[in-house]
Amino acid sequence: MSGTGEEEVVEKFLDAASHGDEGQVTSLLSAVPSLLERTGPRGWTALMLAARNGHQNVVQTLLQHGCDRSLVNTVGQSASDVAKFWGHEHVAILLGDLDEEGDGVGCENYFGCEPLDRLSAKRTDSVWLEDRKEHPSSVFLLFSNLSPMLYQNQEGVQHLCRMGYEAVQDLVEKPDAALVFLGVERRSRTRSASEELPAWFAISSDEDGAALLGRCLHTKRKCSFASSAHRDLLNLSDEDAGILAPARALLAWHRRYAFCSTCGSATVSGEGGHKRSCRNQQCPSNKGVHNTCYPRTDPVVIMLVVHPDGNQCLLGRKSVFPARMFSCLAGFVEPGETLEAAARREVCEESGVRVGAVRYVSCQPWPMPSQLMIGCLCVAVTTDISVDRNEIEEARWFPRQQVMEALLGGGSRPGPAHSGLIIPPKQTIAHQLLRHWISTGANL
Ligand SMILES: [Zn+2]
Repeated sequence: MSGTGEEEVVEKFLDAASHGDEGQVTSLLSAVPSLLERTGPRGWTALMLAARNGHQNVVQTLLQHGCDRSLVNTVGQSASDVAKFWGHEHVAILLGDLDEEGDGVGCENYFGCEPLDRLSAKRTDSVWLEDRKEHPSSVFLLFSNLSPMLYQNQEGVQHLCRMGYEAVQDLVEKPDAALVFLGVERRSRTRSASEELPAWFAISSDEDGAALLGRCLHTKRKCSFASSAHRDLLNLSDEDAGILAPARALLAWHRRYAFCSTCGSATVSGEGGHKRSCRNQQCPSNKGVHNTCYPRTDPVVIMLVVHPDGNQCLLGRKSVFPARMFSCLAGFVEPGETLEAAARREVCEESGVRVGAVRYVSCQPWPMPSQLMIGCLCVAVTTDISVDRNEIEEARWFPRQQVMEALLGGGSRPGPAHSGLIIPPKQTIAHQLLRHWISTGANL
């Protein structure tokens, strides 16, 4: 097939997807499988066209044929973005990250996946926990100085090293071991209902890093400890990132809370590493429930501020950022403050811009050490910028087109049109907020 004939077939195929003609889509695909990722005007694929018009059956057919759901059109929208914008929820779910069982383990943001069932009720069942710890199916993640032991696969993706009980038994049995029960693997269709689900634990050791690496030699893999939290921990698979987030945040908490904040006595870990109790029996923290005994999560608001004209957004840069990189403004929520008030206060303090409406978009655990990044879309009511140089170096309004180019450039390098703007990588919620704004905006 060549020339005009080929173009006609592509057009026919895209048209069938757009109109929900499942029979036509199927028969054209069986004749010409390469049609799957062909594009029409503005980079629209058959999947995007079917998503635009809410044709669930066609979307399903295309996915079954192995269609790439991550493709984006010329303005950076994926099929899922298109479905969400046009209110086709059922199609968006089909295109989203929900797994086959639909139990919501999918993740909107990096570090946000929940591959394990936390099984919090079992944290107080010490007999069960002891039994699981020594079970041959149990998985242990080993940390040194809060860095997880990793190995890199052939595609360059980092994975958490999974170890068995024997490899870490002596560390686990130390009286003051920082051991955390993370949960059990979720039941999948391939597992029988009676099968015991592997339990996962994380353990931190102060032992010399080289000696710890020696424990993993039997796997014949080249293991190492993450040397840079930002570089190494942002290159994990989504599932491993979702397991790392609670593990690292909990281990960081154990490191910093060895002493009681009420009386200063030593504390001891309990409830599978999800509680620390004061060793002083007379301490008030041992009576009733106190938040000093539980792991902390620090809320941070991160805002994409949209210009009143709807076509520009406010981004700022810190002096430590790489050249030309700008990101969303962000700041810690203060005690007794609502998310909306924190968002308005932070934007005003950092840029002088006043914000009206604040809408929650999505959130991201950020285990360096234990923030929860709460992503919001805000609408500005003033536009003059006056930067607080103690907080940021520069803030600017960026036109939609320039943000699109930066997004298409992958986020880590300038866009194809050399817009000069670099935005944070896709693993960050700042990137996802920008993507959200572009996908829900004009050009549909
Ligand atoms: Zn105490």
